[in-house]
Amino acid sequence: MLQIENSAFAVNERGYYGNFGGAWIPEMLYPNVEELRKNYLDIIYRDEFQEEFNDLLKNYVGRPTPLYFANRLSEKYQTNIYLKREDLCHTGAHKVNNTIGQILLAKRLGKNKIVAETGAGQHGVATATVCALMGIECIVYMGEVDIERQAPNVARMKMLGAEVRPAKSGSRTLKDATNEAMRHWINNPMDTHYIIGSVVGPHPYPDMVARFQSVISEEIKKQLLEQTGNANPDYLVACVGGGSNAAGTYFHYLDEPSVKIIAAEAAGHGITTDKSAATTFLGKKGVLHGSKSLLMQTLDGQVVEPHSISAGLDYPGIGPMHAHLWESGRAKFYDATDEEALAAGFELTKLEGIIPAIESAHALAVLGKLNAGKDETVVVSLSGRGDKDLATYMKHI
Ligand SMILES: *Cc1c(COP(=O)(O)O)cnc(C)c1O
Repeated sequence: MLQIENSAFAVNERGYYGNFGGAWIPEMLYPNVEELRKNYLDIIYRDEFQEEFNDLLKNYVGRPTPLYFANRLSEKYQTNIYLKREDLCHTGAHKVNNTIGQILLAKRLGKNKIVAETGAGQHGVATATVCALMGIECIVYMGEVDIERQAPNVARMKMLGAEVRPAKSGSRTLKDATNEAMRHWINNPMDTHYIIGSVVGPHPYPDMVARFQSVISEEIKKQLLEQTGNANPDYLVACVGGGSNAAGTYFHYLDEPSVKIIAAEAAGHGITTDKSAATTFLGKKGVLHGSKSLLMQTLDGQVVEPHSISAGLDYPGIGPMHAHLWESGRAKFYDATDEEALAAGFELTKLEGIIPAIESAHALAVLGKLNAGKDETVVVSLSGRGDKDLATYMKHI
């Protein structure tokens, strides 16, 4: 894990990316977050931490993941497209890079219990996995509605030994599960670490998660140099839910101005409808889950229920790092509708024999909007595999 400091796009000492970030938390949560903030950098850059982290990424997760030149897809778009294969990680997505990092950190902070929240269950599964690996107790809060909708992931978590607790308040979905998980952490500050699954939440979570995921861009740099003689692509594309696979993909390229950074947001039925999750198009500045960022909200500040066909992108905000990349113009944001994402998922399957997660298909869906040239290079983060989405794909065959 390389460091970036002194970058206009890195977090500052107060936990801000430009105008976004910080730790907007109830006083009761302050001791927990402060303990983490004081210790995280010191712990994760210790040699012995790095050794264990890298060993698990290699031998448990299966890193480095390949950087694959997609020949037929490249022909279709008349450019040179490389796929970063996070779909080949253990558990089928990039999320495990972060949960491995956080479980190792939790152990060094003397915590022997883990709490997490999950929406679709992907982060819950990645958390339950590393808790099984380490023999640590795991409680996952999940909205009652989501528990019904996501039965296979609930079964996975239970088989891995986690306790899945239903969140029964509000809309009984992710936002409510997050509130319950935070409340649980407030009540169990001594022995429990809270594993957040994306680059969201109060400082230092966005920065910490980005650093754990930065292994993605570290590998892309090496692999692209080996394969093309140039470590820098012309375009770097990733989907943004909270923004963790995107943060990992961008991390070591943020200060390379020749690399165009592209984010794909989920437009749902379209950004002009009330069924969308495209935060930079529809959101305004606001505070959600402990940080100031862009947020889909009503005029009086109520959080709007987002919609996307992909559970992983169905989030009313984005991480503060991405809000800053958007405001500063460093990243360009595109949106892809449910339909466009489905079409891109089928296209990759037919052309390359790879069934992508429906989240990742949103990144593929913007390829046609880039106008990348014949001699240019595009790297796309294929954040996860599509097995979990087969029922969704089948409905549209
Ligand atoms: C959860 C998930 C996402 C969205 O989360 P980010 O934090 O934005 O990366 C994207 N792709 C897959 C496969 C996921 O499971």
